[in-house]
Amino acid sequence: MRAAIIDAPAKIRVASIPDPTPRPGELVIRVGACGICGTDLHIVDGDSPLARYPVVPGHEFAGEVVAIGEHAALIGSGVKVGTRVAVDPNMPCCHCEFCRTGHENLCLYYAALGVTVNGACAEYVTVPAANAYVLPDTMTIREGALIEPVSCAVHGMHCLDPKSGDTFLIVGAGTMGLLLLQLALHGGASRVAVADVNTQRLARAEQLGATRTHKDINKLLADEPLGFDCVIDATGVPSVMEAAFAAVKRGGKFMVFGVAPNEARISLSPFRIYNDEIKIMGSMAILFSFQPALDLISGGIIDTRAMLTAALPLEDFPKALTMVRHGEGVKTQIIPNG
Ligand SMILES: [Zn+2]
Ligand SMILES: [Zn+2]
Repeated sequence: MRAAIIDAPAKIRVASIPDPTPRPGELVIRVGACGICGTDLHIVDGDSPLARYPVVPGHEFAGEVVAIGEHAALIGSGVKVGTRVAVDPNMPCCHCEFCRTGHENLCLYYAALGVTVNGACAEYVTVPAANAYVLPDTMTIREGALIEPVSCAVHGMHCLDPKSGDTFLIVGAGTMGLLLLQLALHGGASRVAVADVNTQRLARAEQLGATRTHKDINKLLADEPLGFDCVIDATGVPSVMEAAFAAVKRGGKFMVFGVAPNEARISLSPFRIYNDEIKIMGSMAILFSFQPALDLISGGIIDTRAMLTAALPLEDFPKALTMVRHGEGVKTQIIPNG
């Protein structure tokens, strides 16, 4: 089969590798669509501490079951050859302290398809049957491949736990910022302001219902002088996070959703955290949020038309990375069997 391979940081190729065969408990999926995101850029750039090389990237995908390993049909609740599925790429160990206390996303022995083992930027991918979710007939494969990023946004909202009527500031209007915007509006936010340096992205945020958008956080703060109940950073840029923190209302919440470099540091006022009773939280990947994300998409809550932009063949994997790096469009996907 053809696959995109990252041999080492900055060493990418599209080449032929052996077709996968399923071991017990596994399925082989013929990949219909696979999204590209910032995580893939981190693996290519060599700044993902979790990545192993060589690796076939691709962790946001859906496709059709073509082979079923021993016992896998039992685990994968009714999957047959031909069943269309989306796959949660996370493979927690299930026996460390964090897994055993319901925090599988914080697993000490983290493994994931497309990061530590081969993923779905390939014609076929092998997956644990337990990670497969059957798609409703009404959902397209490209929508199915959007479940994974939506699932991360859903986990973010679970962590943030906003109240009905809260005001929001979302900083960063890439795929994740735009998904968080839609979830905030659906979840009962009274006003959602969105900041981004890219004006095309701000226009998209307005189409999706943002109350107010601007390049400059301070301009948005001028309309909301007491600040926002919930401020979410979806950029991972340290200087932007510091500016965003200044926009949190007294008693409000600040969530770090964007992925900053491991060695980055930000400067916050501890007096303000104390005196204004500000809650600071993080949100990492997915936790019990894959099925809710599937349901939000099939229920029409997420505007998938606005989210799904470019679809490229596998041979264009390097081009897809460049598009994501330059913030072109929203969600860029690879169609390996197009
Ligand atoms: Zn991703
Ligand atoms: Zn674990």
